[in-house]
Amino acid sequence: MVDAMCKKRKKSKKVAIIGGGAAGMMCAATLIEKGFSGDIALFERNASLGAKVIISGGGRCNVTTGITSLDVLVTKYPRGGTFLRDALKAFGPAKIRAWFEAHDVPLREEDDRRVFPCSNNGKDIVRVFEKIFATTPTIRCLCKTSVLSVEKSDNQFCITYKDKNGTRHKLYDIVVLTTGGNAYAHTGSRGDGYAFARALGHTITPLGPSLNSFLVREAWIKELSGTSFPHARLYARRANGEKVDATGPLLLTHFGISGPAAFAFAAGVAHEKIDESAPLHVRICIDATRDYHTWQKLLIDACAADGAHTIVHILKRWMTTRFAYAMCRECGIDVEKKCAELSKKERKILAHFLGDGYSVRLYAKRPGDEFVTAGGVSLSEVSPKTCASRIACGVYFAGEILDIDGVTGGFNLTASWATGYVAGRAIVRNK
Ligand SMILES: Cc1cc2nc3c(=O)[nH]c(=O)nc-3n(C[C@H](O)[C@H](O)[C@H](O)COP(=O)(O)OP(=O)(O)OC[C@H]3O[C@@H](n4cnc5c(N)ncnc54)[C@H](O)[C@@H]3O)c2cc1C
Repeated sequence: MVDAMCKKRKKSKKVAIIGGGAAGMMCAATLIEKGFSGDIALFERNASLGAKVIISGGGRCNVTTGITSLDVLVTKYPRGGTFLRDALKAFGPAKIRAWFEAHDVPLREEDDRRVFPCSNNGKDIVRVFEKIFATTPTIRCLCKTSVLSVEKSDNQFCITYKDKNGTRHKLYDIVVLTTGGNAYAHTGSRGDGYAFARALGHTITPLGPSLNSFLVREAWIKELSGTSFPHARLYARRANGEKVDATGPLLLTHFGISGPAAFAFAAGVAHEKIDESAPLHVRICIDATRDYHTWQKLLIDACAADGAHTIVHILKRWMTTRFAYAMCRECGIDVEKKCAELSKKERKILAHFLGDGYSVRLYAKRPGDEFVTAGGVSLSEVSPKTCASRIACGVYFAGEILDIDGVTGGFNLTASWATGYVAGRAIVRNK
């Protein structure tokens, strides 16, 4: 019904895009490249566009992924994968890559399928948009301009914003909310868009941090700061009994655990309450490819071959010396013990520690270091084909403001580019 009303409206001349991040920039570029003839205002509170794009991937900008199978791609989104199907079909990783390369940014895929600019510089990605906007008279990039409110006013939207001249109001026919989530708030994404969406009648699903590190209780973990495992596994049960399982590189730090496996695990517990009074017990396996039985066999064989050596000497094949010492201590095994003297019970304890994982209490999500916000504008209220609101005619959403979040590997930017593109294309088609 709302879609039909939107189609009837003949002149959709002025578009306000609120938020000059990945989604907002791609929406604006799509409008321009698809021949939108109306005026475009891109509101951005920062002095320049794309602050988060520039710092993403440690400044290298993991712009998308080399994975192109839609069925695989959607599994990379703990929330929103199904919704994203249409957007990824329209503008998925292969098209995203082709688009940036056509705009003179050569990209390179790494072994783990992450895609970066060959220059390893996120600024090159933002420069693409700056160039497009600089040569298009119909777009105005209103930087250093904070939108304060968005209200429906008859068939238009009244945007109240603040810039160096004070607080002002302006009417637009179409509004695209691309204000992002509330992670890394110092980059400008402070969650303002949730209030704008609510004011327009939308529901915001519960918000929570995702892709964050964790603080752990166990002192011995923190003492091993700097130790890493390339194929670790973390698993636990949520309060509702569901299993959360994550694999990937893991880093032990002075505060707890970090790295891709911890981030993927965080995505699985984004809405779990974790605090001092209710720590989450997680089991950590140092090698996801080896279970209890595999470790049993490895230890039996190693002890049989090297009975005269200490157990730490044997364990050093699979881990650092520091970790081997700490592990023996935690398992109550004398580090000086010769392999030949290791009892069956002790060997089983070690195999259990390695194969089934050791238990660690996570007592907090590390404050302020999450990469993305889980939760956002409820997807049931947004069309997946157009990113248009099903509630308020003339309103579109793109990027992290939506209840979509991915794991690490370029999937979050991919979602922002794809939804930004779809929103821009739909506005042009609807004009
Ligand atoms: C440190 C870090 C590294 C990351 N690395 C990667 C990576 O390598 N690959 C990947 O895929 N993802 C990465 N992500 C996630 C990814 O960057 C985000 O998911 C993505 O940038 C979200 O894009 P967006 O356009 O939806 O929102 P944002 O990029 O957050 O943009 C929103 C913009 O809106 C502006 N804004 C907000 N409110 C207002 C207002 N009221 N008025 C005016 N302007 C406003 C903000 O200033 C901001 O510029 C990373 C995130 C972080 C924090």
